[in-house]
Amino acid sequence: MKGGGQLSKISLKNICKKYEENEDYSVKDFSIDIKENEFIVFVGPSGCGKSTSLRMIAGLEDITSGELYIDGKLSNDLAPKDRNIAMVFQSYALYPHLSVYDNIGFGLKIRKLDKKIIDEKVRSTAEILSLTNYLNRKPKDLSGGQRQRVALGRAIVKESDIFLMDEPLSNLDAKLRVEMREEIVNLKNKLGSTVIYVTHDQTEAMTMATRIVCLNDGIIQQIGSPRELYTNPINAFVAGFLGSPAMNFINGEVKSGAFYDDKGNKILSGISLEDRPLTLGIRPEALELSNSEGLPFSVNLIELLGSDYNISGKLFGNKIILKCDLEKNPRDKGELFVKIPREKTYFFDRDSGDRIFIGESYED
Ligand code: ADP
Repeated sequence: MKGGGQLSKISLKNICKKYEENEDYSVKDFSIDIKENEFIVFVGPSGCGKSTSLRMIAGLEDITSGELYIDGKLSNDLAPKDRNIAMVFQSYALYPHLSVYDNIGFGLKIRKLDKKIIDEKVRSTAEILSLTNYLNRKPKDLSGGQRQRVALGRAIVKESDIFLMDEPLSNLDAKLRVEMREEIVNLKNKLGSTVIYVTHDQTEAMTMATRIVCLNDGIIQQIGSPRELYTNPINAFVAGFLGSPAMNFINGEVKSGAFYDDKGNKILSGISLEDRPLTLGIRPEALELSNSEGLPFSVNLIELLGSDYNISGKLFGNKIILKCDLEKNPRDKGELFVKIPREKTYFFDRDSGDRIFIGESYED
């Protein structure tokens, strides 16, 4: 193998994309080696370049510069049909007049495969997806989840070992999304395939990925396991994007070993950083509720989410959200205070957002 690296299934080297009509690049210097059997999730806000990156891998969009290797072979100019890749889109557009059987088998029929072979492939695909009993139904007589499974079936039946998925669950309701998340991960494990999955939903990224690629403004911010990105974010963008509710940020400065907010209120002492403006970051679940110690917490909203509460409020005018479990019923507590454990804090540069400090709880 040349260029792509020994075990890489897909390898992107400094891939860039500039649409002619746009002034800026949509994707800049995208590089990653993806191994066989990985479940890679591209995550980031709308417009950050996730779909463009995926579409360049699929061959649906030209690569402006950089190199794309598939199975070690330079593939920039390879036609989509020759890339041996299966794709599942958000709008899965099943053929409404065709049965499930014919929807799954459509691509094979187009390729003029033998009827008997098509039959075998369609039936084994339907078996994998628990669709055997629905083969004669039309899409309108299926539930949303079943329709999505048919769309997956159309991809699986191609027997490709690379799946590209672009927001495949975004049309489903919340409960079904959770079920389908699990189904897709199980399916990937069953088929032993490599998956690249695009989503703006950080929960999907956290729960499905073996590795997450977090993007902003066409630039990779960080690549790593969900846990790595959650506990060890490289900058304020990644820290704020992954996690729900999002990390709390308080702008201020370090002065003589303490952190003060922008209005000069002392937020935290015992800081061993030199004097400078910084942003403090602390996760909602890292904050501790107290009825006697800490900073006065003016509560605005208490939301019960089942096993825990999200409590929104302010610390000296700085908006924060705290997460605590059900036993600590905040309604019984009267006046509330919040403690910020130093070992669970992060500090970020106020201009660049780069992380410059991580509390010892999160150090490797
Ligand atoms: P995402 O998938 O993260 O929402 P996209 O990859 O769709 O982001 O878009 C990245 C950027 O490229 C955006 O600024 C978008 O407007 C631009 N873009 C996407 N597709 C096209 C296109 N066909 N022509 C021109 N600009 C595009």
